[in-house]
Amino acid sequence: MTEDLLGQLRERLGEYVDLRHAGALLHWDQEVFMPPKGAEARGRQLATLSGLAHRFFTAPETGDLLKALEDRRDSLDPDAAKLVEVASYDYDRATRLPEAFVREFAEEQSKAYHVWVKARKESDFRQFEPNLARIVELNRRKADYMGYEGTPYNALLEDYERGVTAETIAPIFETLAREQRDLVQRITNASQRPRAPWLKRDWSEDAQWAFSIRILEDIGYDMEAGRQDRSVHPFTTAFDVNDVRVTTRLAKDDPFSGLMGSLHEGGHALYEQGYSAKDWRTPLAGPVSLGIHESQSRMWENCVGRSLPFWERYAPVMREYFPEALEGVGAEQIYAAVNTVEPSLIRVEADECTYNLHIILRFEIERALIEGELAVADVPAAWNGKVSDFLGLETPDDARGCLQDIHWSHGAMGYFPTYALGNLYAAQILERILEELPGLWDHVRAGEFQPLLQWLRARIHQQGRRYTAAEMIAEVTGKPPESGPFLRYLAEKYTPLYGLR
Ligand code: ZN
Repeated sequence: MTEDLLGQLRERLGEYVDLRHAGALLHWDQEVFMPPKGAEARGRQLATLSGLAHRFFTAPETGDLLKALEDRRDSLDPDAAKLVEVASYDYDRATRLPEAFVREFAEEQSKAYHVWVKARKESDFRQFEPNLARIVELNRRKADYMGYEGTPYNALLEDYERGVTAETIAPIFETLAREQRDLVQRITNASQRPRAPWLKRDWSEDAQWAFSIRILEDIGYDMEAGRQDRSVHPFTTAFDVNDVRVTTRLAKDDPFSGLMGSLHEGGHALYEQGYSAKDWRTPLAGPVSLGIHESQSRMWENCVGRSLPFWERYAPVMREYFPEALEGVGAEQIYAAVNTVEPSLIRVEADECTYNLHIILRFEIERALIEGELAVADVPAAWNGKVSDFLGLETPDDARGCLQDIHWSHGAMGYFPTYALGNLYAAQILERILEELPGLWDHVRAGEFQPLLQWLRARIHQQGRRYTAAEMIAEVTGKPPESGPFLRYLAEKYTPLYGLR
């Protein structure tokens, strides 16, 4: 009886996963190949498919199966028990929002997105203000439907970073803000600054493409189970563990923006290719959280791809692809160039020293909006004040200020903190890896990435969704999320690079 129920549940969840992945494929095509005139029909197809998937998953049949299996919990093996637990959690969250509310939210999202595009283009927050006010209101109602302890912001955070609360991250972020602001100031005032006049040379896009594929293959990305294409915004998407695709964008005047994009998305893709075979086509084959996902991309992009040992290996390799542009340029020069610190107004262009500051100011603002401590009309002033305080920069207009990100126009609040948490987790995980794999940098210097990948596979990728984010960090590092490892990582890298004391 139990086996029979379990078989039915697996089949139902499998069909749900298939519907979701079919939608993801349509979305991938939209971003990569679709001609512009296809947009309207594609929008309808995506809405139909996601509506079908949602109705199928939240149908009473799913709930009845889950309930029957929960009653038989004692007779389930650990994997089956975990599957029922995770699916029940998803089912519970997915059925808390009334259908009328979901529709209202979706309609506002689509309106808000179009208004935001125009407001950003004309750099005029006032056009977007009424929409943002409705988005905040809808998110507050969503929090009430979902339920929470502490601040309503926690209900929103839960969707992206299960088990992590605003009360946990606020003090960590305060420490980061203080320490990183101080470090950035010292770097800005430093007399020693890396210069890279050779960056002004010509960087063939064909060579950039070939080099990025070479790097993806070297770090262990399975090209038989994935591919790289170009898109306006780089992203990773998966339709199965055996079909995980990445995109990147190339700049003719900067060979590293595309390469680092490939490494970043490659880190996400290694995670998705690494789920355990026994979890395929179930909700267990998924990321723990967005923060854990981001920790994998930051591990490969920053911890590895911006390290000196990596460039000791790859400076000569890269010179084969760019014999003229890299003539006379060595590992140390590339290392310095890819670690240039420059406070900027735009989050997506930020370096490792300033990135979290962009996130913290967004977290503080959206939390204050949700808690009713900040009026929507005051967002630009609050934003510009924090940019001045954290980064020492004047914000000349809304387009380069509070209108720069797409997230709020999509209705997403509680998402931003996961980017900073990804940086923190990566540094925390790296400290643990170095204790267990003290030869890590020798491996990297030799272009051997399997020891690192196998470590990540065993401890993180193959676990799928068996842990919450907080549990996984505790399990892997023995400690709760903290700022210390990331701050040590920054100090060790940037003190010598900028001749700080
Ligand atoms: Zn990412």
